[in-house]
Amino acid sequence: MQAAENVRRADLLERATLVLNRSWQPVHVTTVRRALCSVYRGSARIICPETLATFDFVDWIEQPALPGAATIRTPGVQVVVPEVILLCRYNRLPRHEAPFTRQNLFLRDDYTCQYCGKRATASLLSVDHVQPKSRGGSTNWENCVLACVGCNARKADLTPREAGLRLRRAPERPRWTPFLNLRPSQRMESWSKFTPGRRRRKNDY
Ligand SMILES: [Zn+2]
Repeated sequence: MQAAENVRRADLLERATLVLNRSWQPVHVTTVRRALCSVYRGSARIICPETLATFDFVDWIEQPALPGAATIRTPGVQVVVPEVILLCRYNRLPRHEAPFTRQNLFLRDDYTCQYCGKRATASLLSVDHVQPKSRGGSTNWENCVLACVGCNARKADLTPREAGLRLRRAPERPRWTPFLNLRPSQRMESWSKFTPGRRRRKNDY
């Protein structure tokens, strides 16, 4: 029983925590372990995603755990696992732009064909060059989109106009940054409040 509890605690300590800068912009993802250390040292505060109230370590451990909240028990203390922390002193900006990669393209286009709007698994989508490669089209954010099997076959080596297809939006470099490119299962639901770029799926990147 004790061993199981230790494994669970180790897993929770390795879980991802979103880090915001002083201006509440997401800049980083760290582990719960590091997040708690930063808060304990006083260089960060924990944000309650529900109320947006911020807490130092002492205040946080005095918070009663809501039903269903993940907690770490140590002798004498029960700590609710933080999901988002706020840096107190630094105001650095996200460090990188999203590099153009296949994986990032899937994230940008949200596994959705940019011609017909059909959502599909990765195996049923391919990377389409809007201006065909055979006609000098570049492989970059501005010229590549996801296309489903049907739209891809129809488009072939044609321009969208020639193929009678219309892009749902002009492709561009996404505004979110690579540290947020975690698998959906690693991302916490509460982060969507702090990462607006990932929320605007319908009309914006
Ligand atoms: Zn399609």
